[in-house]
Amino acid sequence: MTSLIAALPGDGIGPEVMRAGLAVLRAAAARHALDLRIEEAPFGGAALEALGAPLPPSTRDLCLDSSAVLLGAVGLPGPPPSDPALRPEQGLLDLRALLGVYANLRPIRPLPGACAASPLRQESLAGVDLIVVRELTGGIYFGDKREGDDAASDLCAYSRGEVERVVRCAARLARQRSGRLCSVDKANVLATSRLWRSATSRLIADEFPELELEHLLVDAAAMRLLTRAAGFDVLVTENMFGDILTDEASVLTGSLGMAPSASVGDGGKGLYEPIHGSAPDIAGQGLANPCGMILSVAMMLDLSLKAPQAARAVEAAVAGAVAQGVRTADIAGEGAAASTGQFTEAVLARLNRSGLRGPLVQYAG
Ligand code: NAD
Repeated sequence: MTSLIAALPGDGIGPEVMRAGLAVLRAAAARHALDLRIEEAPFGGAALEALGAPLPPSTRDLCLDSSAVLLGAVGLPGPPPSDPALRPEQGLLDLRALLGVYANLRPIRPLPGACAASPLRQESLAGVDLIVVRELTGGIYFGDKREGDDAASDLCAYSRGEVERVVRCAARLARQRSGRLCSVDKANVLATSRLWRSATSRLIADEFPELELEHLLVDAAAMRLLTRAAGFDVLVTENMFGDILTDEASVLTGSLGMAPSASVGDGGKGLYEPIHGSAPDIAGQGLANPCGMILSVAMMLDLSLKAPQAARAVEAAVAGAVAQGVRTADIAGEGAAASTGQFTEAVLARLNRSGLRGPLVQYAG
């Protein structure tokens, strides 16, 4: 059966990393006999300019019809307009809500060769292999907003059900991994965090008694991520804490450009995107690191397309290219920097000789 993939390049470096991601997806599909149809659609600032809305109806319909959505990044340079309907980022919030993808999985696994670019001591990166499960469709980003010149407020609200479903998702992952789950909150100050903590404790006791559950305050989690990250396995947290902690955790990998993500809900549909933004400071110069996007493609192969062998081949091709010194400027250190296209070609070359059947796919970036 043909799987329809919606590709939303977005803004800034979004289209550059999307070209890389799609080349790798097509190569993996060809080598692993996957039947895909890929359709591109405008999204974010690009859609605002072309069609007057960040998530236009045609893009909405395509995403609803697709098995999976692959997204570059959104965001235009300059101050955000006061009308939310005119902000590219609003399209992202609406898309996540539309697809019902409430759990955002963000693995942090430093690759040999890339993490040398991290400002942290190399010994503090040894053995780091963690995943943050971020709640994605609730909390302060979705609460009522009051905006004025002299005062403003953002409401943070969670229901027990919203907490339970994302914690359940994290607990299933923890069960497949080390059996340890760390729930991050701010229960010493916030009412929503106290609900989060009690709902998590009860759910784990009732449904996953075999797991070892730790509760950690978000400030302590921020510090431990930079000092003892290898001690973490699966973390679960609310929307804003997860957003901030995962940008911080990307420092462990050497660059924000290295980190992928997958957003999932109760259906099989997923939304796959690197965690970085549109990076207007480097857009259009061939400087973007496409690893986060390509590794998001691997997550799509795994979770939505049920092709774990293809996912492992993509991950191995990325790791191989980086280990052999093909590195974009953000992780190249003193060495020569590869462009976005050169890095993608190196990944494709490894995929194309990965010993599997299928035609060779070239990069046409
Ligand atoms: P950013 O992630 O775009 O960039 C932060 C820094 O990291 C910049 O110096 C950038 O050059 C660098 N960087 C990011 N991705 C990189 C990559 N792949 N390779 C090399 N370097 C990379 O964050 P920002 O500058 O705070 O935000 C820019 C715009 O992106 C804003 O409009 C923001 O709202 C938006 N944003 C969008 C998303 C998303 O689409 N999911 C996420 C975060 C920010």
